[in-house]
This record gives sequence, C-alpha cells and structure tokens, in this order.
Amino acid sequence: MTSHEPSSTELAELRSGLHRLARNLWWTWNQDAQDLFQELSPRSWQNLYHNAVAVLREVSDYELKVHLMEPEFRRRVTGVLQDFDAYLNEPNTWAHENASQLEEHPVAYFSAEFGFHETLPIAAGGLGVLAGDHAKAASDLGLSFVGISLFYREGYFQQAIDGNNWQTEYYSWLDPKNLPLEQVLDADGEPVKCSVRLGLSTVFFQAWRVNVGRCPVYLLDPYLDENEEHFKKLAARVYGGDSTTRIMQEILLGVGGVRLLRTLGIAPSVFHMNEGHAAFLILELVRERMAAGLSFDDAFAAAKAECVFTTHTPVEAGHDRFSPELMAYMAHKFAPQLGLTQEQLLGLGRVRPNDAHEPFCMTVLALKGSRSANGVSELHGAVSREMWTSLFPGKTVDQVPIGHITNGVHLPGWMKGAVRRFWYTQYCDWEKANGKATPEAPHIRTADAWERLVNSQDFWTRIMDPSVTSDEELWSLRYKLRRQLVEFARRRLLIQGQRISQRDFIEFDHLLSTDALTIGFARRFATYKRAPLIFDQFENMVRLVRDPQRPVQFIFAGKAHPRDDAGKSFIQKIIHLSKHSELKGHVVFIENYDIHVARQMTSGCDVWLNNPRRPLEASGTSGMKTSTHGCLNLSILDGWWREGFNGQNGFAIGPDSHPSDVAEQDRVDSLNLYKALTEQVIPCFYNRDADGIPRQWLKRIRSAISTLAPKYTTWRMVQEYVAKYYLTGK
Ligand SMILES: *Cc1c(COP(=O)(O)O)cnc(C)c1O
Repeated sequence: MTSHEPSSTELAELRSGLHRLARNLWWTWNQDAQDLFQELSPRSWQNLYHNAVAVLREVSDYELKVHLMEPEFRRRVTGVLQDFDAYLNEPNTWAHENASQLEEHPVAYFSAEFGFHETLPIAAGGLGVLAGDHAKAASDLGLSFVGISLFYREGYFQQAIDGNNWQTEYYSWLDPKNLPLEQVLDADGEPVKCSVRLGLSTVFFQAWRVNVGRCPVYLLDPYLDENEEHFKKLAARVYGGDSTTRIMQEILLGVGGVRLLRTLGIAPSVFHMNEGHAAFLILELVRERMAAGLSFDDAFAAAKAECVFTTHTPVEAGHDRFSPELMAYMAHKFAPQLGLTQEQLLGLGRVRPNDAHEPFCMTVLALKGSRSANGVSELHGAVSREMWTSLFPGKTVDQVPIGHITNGVHLPGWMKGAVRRFWYTQYCDWEKANGKATPEAPHIRTADAWERLVNSQDFWTRIMDPSVTSDEELWSLRYKLRRQLVEFARRRLLIQGQRISQRDFIEFDHLLSTDALTIGFARRFATYKRAPLIFDQFENMVRLVRDPQRPVQFIFAGKAHPRDDAGKSFIQKIIHLSKHSELKGHVVFIENYDIHVARQMTSGCDVWLNNPRRPLEASGTSGMKTSTHGCLNLSILDGWWREGFNGQNGFAIGPDSHPSDVAEQDRVDSLNLYKALTEQVIPCFYNRDADGIPRQWLKRIRSAISTLAPKYTTWRMVQEYVAKYYLTGK
C-alpha cells in the first residue's frame, strides 16, 4: 500500500512505537503484535521465552530500521501500532458507561502475586493468574484500576527433577532491563522512593510499573543499596522463606503499597484485597486518618468503608497466621501509632480478641476491616460463611456477610494463536453469510472490538451454528491443537532427558500418540488436588492406555510448594510410573509448569481432569481456559464446575455432594472417576460415524463453547465486582 520511501522520522517513530509496544502487555493478547516480535528474531523469541523486550535488545536499532524499510513489514507494524493506540484511547468503554464514578478515583487492587505472562514469573499459581487476568479485563473494560504487588527479583522457583524423580528448585535472577517494566520516576527523573518500618529498621523501596493495556500495576522493590542485605533480598522470592520473611513481605505490600499510591498522588476510592496477604493496608489507612485527627473507632470505620476483600481458599494453610511474638517484633510500631495496646492490636487479627494464645490471622483482619467480603464460587461462598461464622456473633451461618463472585479467565489472553485466527475466520464467514461488512485485514474495526466480541454470547452462539462451523472443521481444529501439544511435549521431554543424540530424537518422537484421547492434569501439586487419584486404579489404567482400539494417554505437569514433601512425593510417584511401568510412553510429566505450559495443555488436551477433594477447590480456573479450544472438562462438582456443568458440556465425576469422611471420599471419587472415563468419556470420544467423525463428542464441544466461553471470563467477573462491590457502600 504505502510504497513511498519512508522518511527517517517515520522510521524512528515506528521504532520507538515498537519499543513502547514491547513494554505494554497488551501484545500478550494481540496475535498480530506477537507475530511481529517473533519474526524479528524467531530464535530469540523461542529461547528468550516469548519476551518482546528481550527480542528488541537482541535486534540492533540499525537492523530494526532495515526491517522497517520493507513495505509489507512496515505496513503491519503501522497497523498494529494504530490498533494499540486505538485500544489505549478508546473513549466508549464499558466502564465509561457503567462506572464513570470511579474515573477520578480508581480501584486499587492489592495482590501478593500477579501472573501476566511466562516472561514475568512473579506468580505461584492460580491466585496470581487470576490477578493478572483481573487487571487485563479491567483494562479491556476501561475501568480505572491500579494494581499493587512486589517485584520478586528471583520470581517463583523453576522446577527440576533429580535422579530420584524428586523435585528440586532453582532460581534465576530477573533483570528489569529485559522485562516489560518501567522504573517509576519522579518529576526530576529520579527513582521514586518510599519506606516502611520493619521491626527496628526503616526499609526503603522503589517501584516498577507494568503496563497492562490501560492499567498500571506497580511492583514494590526493596532491592536498594541503602537497605541492609537481608532487607534488600526481602522480596527476592514469591512467598519466600519463613514466616518472618512472609510478615515483612506483607507489611511491605500492604503498608508500602498505600504509601506508594499517596506518593504518586493516586487517591483510590476502593482498596481491593485479593486474599489476606495485603490486609495490613487497613492499618495504614487507619493510621492516616488518626494522623488527620480521627479517633481510632472513627478511623477504623472510615478505613473499613473503603476496603473490599476476596477470600480464596477453605484450606487452613492458605490463611496466614503470625505468632504474637513475631507481630510484637515486626509490627511493634502499629500499636502506638493506632493508640492501641499490643493486645488490642493482636485482637484485630483474632476470632477471640482476648485469647492470648490465638495467633494473628490476616484473613480475620481483612474480614474485620472490609465493608464487604466474597468467596470465588457459589459453593465456596457457602463454605466461607460457615468457616467464619464465629467472627460474627449473633449471626446464623446464612447471615454471615460473605457473598461470592465466581472467578473467570481473560479469554483473549488464553486463546492460542491458531485458535484466535480460526474463530476470527469463522466469524468473518458468518458476517459474509449475513451480509455484514468483512474487514480485509486480520484486525477488526476498532481495536477493542475483538475483546468485546469474544466476551459476548452472540459471537459464540453464531459461530457454533453448524452452518458456520462444521463438525469437520471443528474436528480438524482439535487435531491441529492435539498435535501441537504432543510435539511440544516431545520437545520438552527430550530436553528434560538432557541426552540428545539422533537416536533420542527418534525415541522421543514415539512418546505419545497424536490420535489418542489425551487427558491433561496440570496444577499446583497441593495434596488436596489429588494428582495421583487415577493411579489408584492402576491395573485398570494400564488396560486403558494399552487398548489398541481406543487408547488413552495422560499428560501431567505441576509444581509442589518447596516445603511440601507430600506434594513432591506425588510428583515422584507419577514420574516413576511414567518411566518404569507398563504406562511408559502413555503417561508423561512435563517439568516446570507455568503459564506457557498451561496454554499448551489447556488447548491441546481433549479432556481436562480435575479431581480435588471437595469442597477445597474454591473455584479453579484452568478448566475455564479450555473452553474456546474445544477441550472438555472432566471434573468433580466443586468450585466453578459445579455451576458450569449442565449435563452436556463436559463430564462430572460423581454427584453434587460428598461423603464427610476423607478416606471414603477418596475411595468413592476414584471409582467414580474410572466409571465416568469408561462409561462416558472414552465411548463418546471413539464413537465415530462412517466419515470417522465423533459427532456426539463434537456436540459436547459445541455445548461447552457456547455455554462456558462467554461466561467464565474475567470480563464478566470484573463487571460483577464493579456492580456488587466497587460501586456500593459509598
Ligand atoms: C490457570 C493456572 C493456574 C490455576 O489452575 P487451577 O485450575 O486453579 O488449579 C495455576 N497455575 C498456572 C500456571 C495457571 O496458568
């Protein structure tokens, strides 16, 4: 199109545009933008783990300029940058129409972890991924939103498996220069610095901004020379170390986060605590108001009126508790600042305020100091009300003020590249057939139109019509995605084996089949998730995987917490069986589970297995990532699946109830899992018509896509938070 020779100003603008693009995570959910970075250096793109910032450091300015001299590449860069700017500047957002009250005073969202993308590994699991997806949807919706977290210089651990199949952990140092981070500077161009008191010391921190589309997320970073060495490394690792490190991280997050916002002149209308880790922010808000002259009671009531809290787990260990001694040492400044005795301060984190033996619980502080609280699925809301009844004397379980909003995922971010293209093409076909205008380029009218489309029920209903997407097309999409996963797994397994000869390449290419029913299980190896449950049926399992007519195969992945030996022994068991039993070749374990592995698996598997000990899976989100890819859930009716399952859009393991005895529950669930597999899943998958198409299976996929995809999204979830919690109570 533009065949004229570009001026050097034009080239410089495009070049700086690409740098700007690389430092905004918007590209992580825009396929055209990703393609540009990948093309600039395919090998760095793969080796540096899809890191746009690092790719641009690898390609010299001169090389970039030369690339931009090529008209077609220049046209595409221009198009992506136009889309990017249109997205950032879109005036008619959902929030503009529905939450304009928040425009001047944003929602401040505090989370100890954020999972945005594989290049920024500062999340331990689902909680962080949810926070990242919350921020992305807030951006799509145009919500006035700012995130607060910590910059973990060593991130979350990387997993390696030793000769005894035992998980070991290693860490690599994250260099901000190679990451999508911008240092927060003051008007003079100097790093902004704030401080918090930890024990007897003052600890300074700076901040880094992650641009998530329109929304900033600030990462607090105490790695400064003015801090003593042990404070400098305080935030080196996600939830790193013992409870001393943990309480210091949480004071930094809660108190430091509020101080940073004040320093930046940001005046939030709501403070949203994603889990109890950030609850010290309540005490900082109280301190501010007392400094302005209010009494403790009035200040506490005023702080409470600004805070909302989401609890994420019924698992006891998931609720931080600190001993009175640790609190007395680390938080000794809090009590005098708030005009309280140490015992009164401790009482704020106790169910029984006067029980001197009760530790200080962050969840209790968060519940006492928030105007509203919620769980993350209907069942989890009910379980949480029961769990915390004693905190609300005089109230029955049903009256406990904890509601629920079911979690979601950020759909545009989780859709695999090939799948985005596929659905986009199908939609264009629908438009053509219905006399609507079809754009030529692979980007659509205004830049946020794609986000709007994929989050709408109409979009999925339309393209799920068999006249738009035929069974044959759907089935070939499934084949493509399964092959991509199997090839990804073979590559990873080869590297894991670390012995690469020609023979190995051949051997590893025989692992797994591209035709077999592929069942995936990938999540944190917390014991309640019961990763090895299926192996309770070992003999039966051997029969299933070795069935020549209707073979089944399993792909596992997941990390155990560094101090969770029970979780590690689950990993050991699965890897051992995958290498040394009759299951070999049909069961594999992919190391180092992270967002990239999650994307491969939730797209490529045919079935997504989830067998937690009910009701401990508060929501679960990995199963939601599967829907747009045509992978079906096979799950216990816990968390979100209890609401999502409609009888046709996947499979349930067992009934909507559970035995109270844990051993009995494990026994029954393992039998029910085997029953669901052999009576429903396997026959349905292998029931092919004369053309070799599994019509019944595809019918389930259609039902899954149209009922789950538009519903279990953070687009819907954030809208609910706005309506139910962010806008009310003022
Ligand atoms: C989605 C995701 C999770 C959450 O999975 P659950 O279903 O909640 O267990 C955890 N880790 C990663 C890397 C994810 O992408």
